[in-house]
Amino acid sequence: MPELPEVETVVRALRQPLIGRTVTGVRNDWPRHIGTPGLDELRVRIQGCQFQAINRRAKYLVFTLTQGETLIVHLKMSGHLAVVDAAKPADKHVHTIFELDNNQELRFRDIRKFGRVYLVQNPEVILGKLGPEPLESGFTPEVLRDRLNGRTRALKPLLLDQELIAGIGNIYADEALFYAKLHPTRPANTLSQHEITALHSAIQKVLNMGIEREGASIELYVKPDGSKGDMQNAVAVFRRTGDPCYECGRPIERIVLGGRSTHFCSNCQK
Ligand SMILES: [Zn+2]
Repeated sequence: MPELPEVETVVRALRQPLIGRTVTGVRNDWPRHIGTPGLDELRVRIQGCQFQAINRRAKYLVFTLTQGETLIVHLKMSGHLAVVDAAKPADKHVHTIFELDNNQELRFRDIRKFGRVYLVQNPEVILGKLGPEPLESGFTPEVLRDRLNGRTRALKPLLLDQELIAGIGNIYADEALFYAKLHPTRPANTLSQHEITALHSAIQKVLNMGIEREGASIELYVKPDGSKGDMQNAVAVFRRTGDPCYECGRPIERIVLGGRSTHFCSNCQK
């Protein structure tokens, strides 16, 4: 699933072709793509809206439109957004198309069809429960300490909880725990102040690496132009089961925690 760095990469790529453009129509052959308000109402309300700003919140793309509307998209497992010429044929996996006023289209391609589109007047309806953005200045080691305080759950599933911290998924959780030298099963309330500081800087390190490398093309993620990111070539542990740890040379191990594959070095991570 695209995580914070992948969604950030998509947001940055869509600004230039979309900002200033106006939606002239919507085509859709999979109405369940529309989470709210339903396809018919969305089609009426978004008609004539202009894209003013595009930002990211957690793993959501947030398109600020005129007329007080906000378009929010979650890519989920396999979603892909691109702005292309309207004349270019769309394949069968393109399910929602926003027609633009310049003979181009914003196309939502989604092989697994778990992605969702929302059109809201109040973005908080969708985004209100999300935890802090880990790359914003307000996310300090003290904030992380307060959010982990009293939690007995293992670190790995806790890092995936979007209400605790926004934007981290399976890849970057495993990578952050490796750089923090923390075992994924460690209960959160057993961390020392030093370990919390190490986890805080490891989270920021791996997310910034992911953004610089324009995301990890490990499963279905590719950039809007169809090319791959580069973070898959820089992972320390994720899907490196059996390969030598870059720190100590021992094989990377894999366990399942909270239903998710988890990769780590049992020698380096305590
Ligand atoms: Zn190691």
